Amino acid sequence: MTRPLAIFGGTFDPVHLGHLSVAWEASELLDAEVRLMPASVPPHRPAPIASAAQRVAMLRAALQKQSRLSLDTRELARTGPSYTIDTLLELRAEQGDRPLLLLIGADAFAGLPSWHRWRELFDVAHIGVLSRPGVDAALPEVLEQEAASRRVVDPAMLHALPAGKVIELAVTPLEISATRVRELLAEGRDPRYLLPCGLFDDPAVLAPYRNA
Ligand code: ATP
Repeated sequence: MTRPLAIFGGTFDPVHLGHLSVAWEASELLDAEVRLMPASVPPHRPAPIASAAQRVAMLRAALQKQSRLSLDTRELARTGPSYTIDTLLELRAEQGDRPLLLLIGADAFAGLPSWHRWRELFDVAHIGVLSRPGVDAALPEVLEQEAASRRVVDPAMLHALPAGKVIELAVTPLEISATRVRELLAEGRDPRYLLPCGLFDDPAVLAPYRNA
């Protein structure tokens, strides 16, 4: 049995306590190494407000003084869109048969059929779906058909196979989004307890959002 490697991708514009808490709990529930992986040019959404370097600096500040979560910046080094399938294939080549896991929030999972080569994701990794408040549980039919036979409830199943399963992870619901954090900052407010405290050490860190 090998400890799975899980990746948690996103724009992290900025990283908030919702991201950190669900990633932390997933790492505990799955006994997995979890890497936060910022995307450079997200294929599905407008460009981030903070630059790649600024988002990495925020993630580094957020991940201090803990040992479960780490940072993987490989997608920022690539030119063009950050396709998750390419990242997973690269990790597969590096990690051999080690179980790989893609962690995604329930909102992002429902949109999976719009992702590049989405069905192939299941060939390369397991998918861990993180519950998120306010997200309708209904999935598009094509996704439900693909996921139905893959669902497992026991995390041990993910340790025994390299890829192909889907697990729902009932993490503590935290209704925090980067959109809300950006709105508050743009209004001149101070979302002190929605963000990791390391982001407040230097006022320049959140300046891009205040001036947006
Ligand atoms: P935005 O509001 O800008 O869309 P976001 O808060 O959803 O941002 P992203 O960086 O887009 O954050 O999300 C990265 C991943 O984290 C996605 O899979 C998303 O579903 C998940 N996620 C973000 N916030 C939460 C949360 N509070 N609970 C569960 N999952 C979350």
